[in-house]
Amino acid sequence: MTSRRTSPWLFPLALAGLAVVALLLAGAERLATRHYLAEGLTRAETALRLTVNVLDGQLKRYEALPRLLAENHDIVRLVTEPGNLTHRAAMNRWLKETNGVLQSSDIYVMDLRGDTIAASNFDRSDSFIGQNFTYRPYFSDAVQGGQGRFFALGTTSGVRGYYFAAPIRDGGGQVAGVIAFKVGLDHIEAAWRDDEHRIIVSDPDGIIFLSSDPRWLYAGLLPLTAERLEMLQKSRRYAGAELKPLPQDTAVEQDIPLMTLTAADGLRHEYILQSQLMPDAGWTVRVLLDTASLRAQVRIVLAATLLLMCAAGFAAVLVMQRRRSRAELERRVEERTADLARVNRRIETEIAERRLTEQELRRTQADLIQAGKLAALGQMSAALSHEINQPLAAARNYADSATILIDRGDTVRARENVAQILSLVDRMAMIGKHLRNVARKPNQALQEIDLNQAVAEALDIARPRLAAAGVSVAVNLPHGLPPVRGVAVRLQQVIVNVLSNAADAMEGRDDPRVEVSAACDGRTVALRIRDHGPGVPAAIADRIFDPFFTTKQVGSGLGLGLSISYNIMKDFGGDLSLANDPAGGAVFTLLLQASGAMRAAAE
Ligand code: ADP
Repeated sequence: MTSRRTSPWLFPLALAGLAVVALLLAGAERLATRHYLAEGLTRAETALRLTVNVLDGQLKRYEALPRLLAENHDIVRLVTEPGNLTHRAAMNRWLKETNGVLQSSDIYVMDLRGDTIAASNFDRSDSFIGQNFTYRPYFSDAVQGGQGRFFALGTTSGVRGYYFAAPIRDGGGQVAGVIAFKVGLDHIEAAWRDDEHRIIVSDPDGIIFLSSDPRWLYAGLLPLTAERLEMLQKSRRYAGAELKPLPQDTAVEQDIPLMTLTAADGLRHEYILQSQLMPDAGWTVRVLLDTASLRAQVRIVLAATLLLMCAAGFAAVLVMQRRRSRAELERRVEERTADLARVNRRIETEIAERRLTEQELRRTQADLIQAGKLAALGQMSAALSHEINQPLAAARNYADSATILIDRGDTVRARENVAQILSLVDRMAMIGKHLRNVARKPNQALQEIDLNQAVAEALDIARPRLAAAGVSVAVNLPHGLPPVRGVAVRLQQVIVNVLSNAADAMEGRDDPRVEVSAACDGRTVALRIRDHGPGVPAAIADRIFDPFFTTKQVGSGLGLGLSISYNIMKDFGGDLSLANDPAGGAVFTLLLQASGAMRAAAE
């Protein structure tokens, strides 16, 4: 089958198809990645803006407070009269109160040596009172008349905070002490925990000091060099906290900055990175948005694309297959049509041959009929010549002897001879009459005949012949038979003929018997005449009704009896047929029309 053969193009075609699919997928991957990463970037940008605003706001809230408080007389008095313990105690309480109002972490005052002389947490066990903070950069900045700011992990409290400090000037404008504010940032960090993105804030040394993920706290984004570590140690910014490096990779994919962090458990996470420097504080705020969900979305898009392509491919294959099967169907239809046309042609030629054969048969039949006629003519002339020559010869003998007898004057015997001659002439005339009967189609009017009577009269006529052969006849006709249509004399002739034939057939047989019976079906009456002879051989059964057909010796029969009888029965609108009885013997059936009136009554 041509449709089943694998095309040589199939393999390269499949390869090309795969290449196209791969290209399409790669394109789709690029587009989807760009789309989702850009979307992530926008989210990260928004989050960054918000975070920076919040942080900035928080810092700005407290920025001006140290300077304001430094101008307060009581504060100035605190540093100018360090020995006044009553004032100190009063100031401690006031600072505590103010700290509560301002919601800062701690407020405290240091003298020029850096010793804390008053603090809002004076009454706590981890009070700053007596602590020295000269190592903190905010202190040195403020002592030098500047504005001090510093982020650090509290050395005493261990709590992270942003420190603001301002110089306290005496009446002469000289720096006499330093007032410092510590602001906690824990609550801001706590607010980040629930966000989908991570936020880290690092100091200028790259140390992360605020992080939505506590695991990254105090990790260094910049290399932790010995120099840097020493500096950090000096300011004791992170007190005793252990600093560790945070392994990271930065990359840019489709213009989107990415950062990969390796977590403590060794798992690598990729994030979209958005960062901003807060110049006043020296902090860098980074917002990290995990790309896992974005990349998952990209994969979903890819899977959908692949599915779509598969569906399209499947549809294409389906269409192709349908087209192919239609082509196959058309081919088969054409084949069948061609087959049919071939068969048609063959039938036509066969018909033509049959016609020819038929014509030949007809010709042969015509030839046979012609031959049959000739044969019949031959038989007829043989029969006729015998039938006529014999009486002619006899008549001649009688005439000769009559002449002699007349010459002798024996008129009596001469008269006898003449009578013999007359009977012979009559016999020849009978033959002529017979022949006329064969040829003639009498148009005598049909009468109603009583079958019982017709049978009885025919038996009377045939009796001498039947008696000579010793034949016994049993007639058994049912009562109430309807009259039949025909001509009485001619019907008798038929019955006589059939009875004589029966007598002939049973010649020399033991117990020669003939049974005559009848049956009526309302429309017709069938008269059966059965003998106990040898029956009619099948070979000649269809010929016995032919004129001049006889199996009897020349001179015994003309072969006209059944032929004439058959014609008579047809004239009556009936039939004459032969059947051999299974038990032996011939059965001749004379079929007759039941007469009109009776038929109507029977119906
Ligand atoms: P014919 O009696 O002069 O021979 P028919 O036409 O009456 O002419 O009969 C034709 C032939 O039919 C007979 O020669 C005979 O062979 C056959 N035939 C007729 N009746 C019988 C019969 N009852 N039994 C056997 N053969 C018969």
